[in-house]
Amino acid sequence: SASYPEFVWQNGAIKPWAQATVHIMAHALHYGSSVFEGIRSYPTPDGQAIFRLTDHIKRLFQSAKIHDIQIPYTLEQLNAACREVIKANKLERAYLRPFAFRGLGGFGLSADTPTEVAVACWNMGAYLGADVLEKGIDACVSSWQRFAPNTIPAGAKAGGNYLSGQLVAREARRLGFGEGIALASTGLLSEGAGENLFLAFDGALHTTPVSAALLNGITRNTLITLAREAGIEVVERDLPREYLYLCDELFMCGTAAEITPIRSVDGKPVGDGKVGALTKQMQKLFFGLFDGSTPDRWGWLEPVG
Ligand code: PMP
Repeated sequence: SASYPEFVWQNGAIKPWAQATVHIMAHALHYGSSVFEGIRSYPTPDGQAIFRLTDHIKRLFQSAKIHDIQIPYTLEQLNAACREVIKANKLERAYLRPFAFRGLGGFGLSADTPTEVAVACWNMGAYLGADVLEKGIDACVSSWQRFAPNTIPAGAKAGGNYLSGQLVAREARRLGFGEGIALASTGLLSEGAGENLFLAFDGALHTTPVSAALLNGITRNTLITLAREAGIEVVERDLPREYLYLCDELFMCGTAAEITPIRSVDGKPVGDGKVGALTKQMQKLFFGLFDGSTPDRWGWLEPVG
């Protein structure tokens, strides 16, 4: 049975987990009208840090802007709420979930309901399984495509978008794969169910450009920055499906997935089927931020305090 943390933050105050409730007729429950973030906190030599907290909360406000969800708090207040909830639960390697949603107050699609805001957090190890960061996963291309341009905005991290992610992820698991990779409506590569993609060719990293079919990932941005700083070439370009089979290395990245190597796609081995050197180098640079071996030149480690 699941064990839950003691406290959450809801509408301005810390409260016990069991008291953080919502009415069954809340708008978001019916129509997917929520926006959210996923953020990780890590223990570091300088104390507990929340990774790129401010960038995540900025994206939360951007998602809310796209969907016209008024958040009655400032960025500073939500940053403080995230810190507070981590501290209250005494968590270290944790996942934070700030979110805002249309609450109870009208049943029509365009109803102006009050916005509810909350922050939860819980302990989280590797998202796709215990040893996947070392061994990698077997992935498949999903039979489900991502959103077409001007349909559901992929640039917003909104609850409703994750019906697509669930179709992709659940199909992959049902077929025995670790994760699914979706194509865009163009037929070109987009992203995993909840992760961006990187392919390696001849020592350079290639990643799909930010488009109508994928979320502008903060981990993706982190890795592009770290790679370029380390003198690794990064190319942002459209890639067709078959390059998944032809690349030397392949990995997924995201807040939850961190850097998860992919060792096969659709049953075909990626490269020699082992986790490649560039993938390991990127893992070392990324996780090095948290053990101090990669200097944080960007102020990404925001202390819990
Ligand atoms: N794409 C999707 C669909 C996601 O849900 C996520 C996870 N938020 C990502 C990409 C990776 O984004 P980030 O690195 O900001 O977590």
